[in-house]
Amino acid sequence: MLGPPGSGKGTRAHIISELYDLPVITTGDMLRTAVAEGTECGKIAKSYMDKGELVPDDIVNGVVRERFQKPDVEDGFILDGFPRSKGQADALDQILEDNNIELTHVILVVLDDKVIVERLSKRRSCPKCGEIYHLESKPPKKQGVCDVCGAALIQRDDDKPDVIKHRLEVYAEQTKPLIKKYRDQGLILETSGVIPMDQLRDHLKELLG
Ligand SMILES: [Zn+2]
Repeated sequence: MLGPPGSGKGTRAHIISELYDLPVITTGDMLRTAVAEGTECGKIAKSYMDKGELVPDDIVNGVVRERFQKPDVEDGFILDGFPRSKGQADALDQILEDNNIELTHVILVVLDDKVIVERLSKRRSCPKCGEIYHLESKPPKKQGVCDVCGAALIQRDDDKPDVIKHRLEVYAEQTKPLIKKYRDQGLILETSGVIPMDQLRDHLKELLG
C-alpha cells in the first residue's frame, strides 16, 4: 500500500485484508512485535525507541526480514507503511527474493494535497482515552468534549496544517522514486482517496479482480 498520510490507506488495507483473508503488516506492528519478542533486531530497535529516536533503515529492514520468516505470509500479505523510501524498497526486493515471494500489486491511493490538509486539520483527539473525532464526519456530541470520557479535545501537532504540509512534502520526496520504480515494473494499481466508504469494498474487489 502506498499513499500519503490521511489518504485512507489503512482503511483500504483493512478491507482488502478481510476480502482476501490476508494479514496486514505495518511497520509499527513489526517493530512492536520484534521488541516484545526480543529478536536480534528488536533489541537494537528498542535501544533507539527508548531514547525516542527514529529506528534507522537497516534495523527496520532487519525487522522486516525477521517478519518474513513467519509462516503466515506464505499465502500472501498486505504491507502498509513499508517500504517508505527507495532504500527500503530495494531491501524489500532482496528479502522477497530470498524468501521466494513475488510482489503482485502495489496499490497507490491518490488524493489531492488540499483535500488531505482539509481532512486532517479537522481531526480532534482525546488526550485522555485516545478517541479520534472529525469535525464533519464524526463530531463529538458536545463541542470540544470527548463523548467517551468527558476530557477536553485537542488538535494534535501532527494534524495542524503546517505540519501536515510538511509531512506531505516529505512523503512526496521519499515516495516519488518508489512510485516510478513500481510503475516501471507494471505493479501500480491506482485507487482514488475520495471514494465513499460504502462503495469502497466493491471498488477494491473490482480493482484487484
Ligand atoms: Zn476521551
